[in-house]
Amino acid sequence: MSKPLFQRPRGTYDIVPPDYRSWRYVLGVFETNSLNAGYDRISTPAFENTALFTRSVGEASEIVSKEMYTFEDKSGNSLSLRPEGTAAVVRAYLENGLASRPKPVKLYKMEPMWRYERPQAGRYRQFYQAGVEVFGSAEPLIDAQVISLAARFYRQLGIEYSLQINCLGNAAARRKYRAKLVDYLQAHTTKLPELVQAQLKSNPLRILDSKDPAMESIIAGAPQVIDYLDKASAKHFSAVLELLDNFGIAYELNPRLVRGLDYYTGPLFEFWGSHQGMQNAIGGGGRYDELVEELGGRPTPAFGFDLGVERILAELAKSKSAMPQAHPTPIYLVSIGEDAKAQAFVLEQELLDGGIASICELPARNLADQLARASKLKSPYSLIIGKKELLDQTVILKDMTSGTQEMVPRAKIASELSRRLAQ
Ligand code: AMP
Repeated sequence: MSKPLFQRPRGTYDIVPPDYRSWRYVLGVFETNSLNAGYDRISTPAFENTALFTRSVGEASEIVSKEMYTFEDKSGNSLSLRPEGTAAVVRAYLENGLASRPKPVKLYKMEPMWRYERPQAGRYRQFYQAGVEVFGSAEPLIDAQVISLAARFYRQLGIEYSLQINCLGNAAARRKYRAKLVDYLQAHTTKLPELVQAQLKSNPLRILDSKDPAMESIIAGAPQVIDYLDKASAKHFSAVLELLDNFGIAYELNPRLVRGLDYYTGPLFEFWGSHQGMQNAIGGGGRYDELVEELGGRPTPAFGFDLGVERILAELAKSKSAMPQAHPTPIYLVSIGEDAKAQAFVLEQELLDGGIASICELPARNLADQLARASKLKSPYSLIIGKKELLDQTVILKDMTSGTQEMVPRAKIASELSRRLAQ
């Protein structure tokens, strides 16, 4: 095979058949659960004004400082491919007047994201997130309901997870904690790796989820954000945990969990899968009560999450739970002779018009070859038309599992198939 002239860009992938079937299944489960819980879909452009992300995600965050795909358009505007899902939804919520709708406003989204990260298993430069955002309620119930929505989704897919949860306080509490953490880490400066030294100035909270083994014991002794919470945040957090207990959702308190975005203000969480080593976060989110105001709206409490679709698919592929067939296997139409072939093509169109998955193929094959092809496609039934059937206006209906055959009037075949497939 000659080498193609072009390859896909590093860190991206193609979805080739039959892989999209699993995508459709996973996104379908997500969408059904979101709709059931009263969410409506929102979709925003692939790119936004760069300032939206610098302002919301934070200039010092890794996503903004290192990973954005930023470019100038022909008018000299600085635009960036969306690196995360929340800021654009907040922008759209404000711009489209969704803020005037009855609260809470509940939105879900399924979109690609782009980050210039070092590609490895489970880490791509273009990846899909499925997520939700809820605007306009500060109630702990919202936090628990949203976390429960994500947990239900994993449960329905048969994915084992561990839910990690932590809480950041209000702005004053976060400032106080940040100062304590910096003091503590500065006392260890001689032992801090270079990257951590830099983070100490720009994004000290992020040091807590460093995976560098040299940081393990230092982090273990670090002050914990939970001890610096303001009263209201502490009360809110314990109410959320109590609700999760009531809902039967197990969690682990994780004092090191901070996540990489600046806008979180309260409880935050991550779901960790069981299969993927370092890239084991299969979703995460939290409360961000200050972001709407930061982006020009009225103060509006909000809560949301984003789940990584590729990592969920990878978990599914490795887990033992069988993926349900996302699409019905087609009926296979078999014909013998030229006239019968023409009739089989007409019948195929009729079945497709009636919403019955069916395949009728061109190559002239003998009966045995055609039936072998039907078995290969795992067709539940094949329909056979030969000279005799053509004359009698009938079709042979063959059950591919039992091998039994029967004659069905041509005019009744579509309704007969529908009846059988519905059973
Ligand atoms: P984040 O908000 O950055 O925690 O992202 C939410 C989820 O998206 C993560 O838990 C991952 O499952 C997924 N994710 C984040 N970055 C990537 C990436 N580069 N490639 C694939 N999935 C990702």
